[in-house]
Amino acid sequence: MQSAEKKIVEGDLALAVEQGLETFAQSVRGGVLRAGDAGFDAARTIWNAMIDRSPALIARCVSPADVINAVNFGRDRDLQIAVRAGGHSAAGSSVCDGGLMLDVSAMKGIRVDPNRQTVRAEAGLTWAEFDRETQAFGLATTGGVVSTTGIAGLTLGGGIGWLGRTHGLSCDNLLSVDIVTADGQLRTASASENADLFWAVRGGGGNFGVVTSFEYQLHPLGPLVTAGLLIWPRQMAGEVLRAYRDFTQGAPENASAYAGLGAAPDGMPIVVLIVFHHGPTEEGETLFGPLRRLGPPVADMIQAMPYTAAQGMLDALNPPGNRVYWKSEVLRNIDDDVLETVIGRAAECPSPLSPTLIEFYGGAINRVGVSDTAYPLREAMYALNAVSYWTDPAQDEANIGWARGTFDAMQPYSPGSVYVNFLGVGDGTEDRVKAAYGPNYARLARVKGAYDPNNVFRMNHNIVPAR
Ligand SMILES: Cc1cc2nc3c(=O)[nH]c(=O)nc-3n(C[C@H](O)[C@H](O)[C@H](O)COP(=O)(O)OP(=O)(O)OC[C@H]3O[C@@H](n4cnc5c(N)ncnc54)[C@H](O)[C@@H]3O)c2cc1C
Repeated sequence: MQSAEKKIVEGDLALAVEQGLETFAQSVRGGVLRAGDAGFDAARTIWNAMIDRSPALIARCVSPADVINAVNFGRDRDLQIAVRAGGHSAAGSSVCDGGLMLDVSAMKGIRVDPNRQTVRAEAGLTWAEFDRETQAFGLATTGGVVSTTGIAGLTLGGGIGWLGRTHGLSCDNLLSVDIVTADGQLRTASASENADLFWAVRGGGGNFGVVTSFEYQLHPLGPLVTAGLLIWPRQMAGEVLRAYRDFTQGAPENASAYAGLGAAPDGMPIVVLIVFHHGPTEEGETLFGPLRRLGPPVADMIQAMPYTAAQGMLDALNPPGNRVYWKSEVLRNIDDDVLETVIGRAAECPSPLSPTLIEFYGGAINRVGVSDTAYPLREAMYALNAVSYWTDPAQDEANIGWARGTFDAMQPYSPGSVYVNFLGVGDGTEDRVKAAYGPNYARLARVKGAYDPNNVFRMNHNIVPAR
């Protein structure tokens, strides 16, 4: 940044920011951007196009030293700090208006240890980048089902994916994190070091500091898995969803499936099953046989494919740049009333881009105790995601209204809990945040009080520090 101190800084942050700005810019090896600088607009743009915010400063961190310097600068000037990794926060918590965006997306170092079957991965990696490196050694761990998502935000909230029923959540596979806490100290948190912090970062989101790298346990996998989409006309939704329920009730732990109601590219309403199995290909083919024979599908894309391809099979359906408003809740079960309500709501959906999704969990995820990590949803088997995707701001009201209406219609079937990473725009209210952290909230607040008593990291699904 050239002559930073001479530039005008807008707003009431002006004085605070200008003091020491030149020194700060020099202390961040990846550079500090301000409005008008090349790359500023790209850096402040995140996946959800509803979020259009302009930070006063963007620190493009490339190392733990950069992160330490940025945390110290922001904290000392009481700037709002937003932390951005993969940029997939649907709620928009990774970019602020005014304030300091701490962007770790360029931190992409990764080192697999094939002997210990572990990996040390920096916080800016996406799952596509992570999987590519670990699969080179025939290894994997649980990541998200859309490969453009960042490992950082996803792991810190829990991390649900195709391998979850076999290997638990992403956070269940964490061995340690390196994290810069609010006092500017780089700490390691693991089962044996700062164990309270390690407990909290496994589900407590970005509340406790800026993670610079994660160490995960890996597992032998692939290279081939059996996966794909099975698509039928929407008229078959009742039959398909009931068959989906039967499948989930008997599914082995090396298999999973989601069900979705949406529209084909030509606008035709469809019902879709997205399936995944790892293990012998013939076993997967046999397992999915009854679903494939339900009736003539519009498309049957189930096949043996590289794990890395399966991890990306939903990418094209979830591109960046849409306006996004989603509402999610855990479901007690998916009995006939639930399925009929879902089908009825999907029929009212105003946008052909929007999926209504039922997700399926259980297995190794649910063998971890509710309070063993901060992630509390260890009894949940299903969740409903009403996802509104659209492009025209004139359609905001209709699409937001549909997701809210679907959420309301599902309330009788939900215990009231929600996955913190599925909170969306407008979900930052105290009751929703408490619903997400559940019985672990009070302990999280105590850990927050110990490591971030002044709530420096507050632009997230915030845990208020206990005094
Ligand atoms: C298309 C799509 C698909 C998804 N699929 C899944 C899925 O399959 N499974 C699942 O579990 N979730 C899924 N999610 C939800 C996802 O886990 C969250 O949106 C997550 O926050 C994204 O992480 P990110 O790093 O990409 O996002 P960012 O927007 O960069 O970060 C989100 C928040 O995480 C925190 N954070 C990020 N990096 C750091 C860091 N280094 N240190 C401290 N805090 C940090 C901050 O609070 C930040 O605001 C999906 C989201 C999208 C948009």
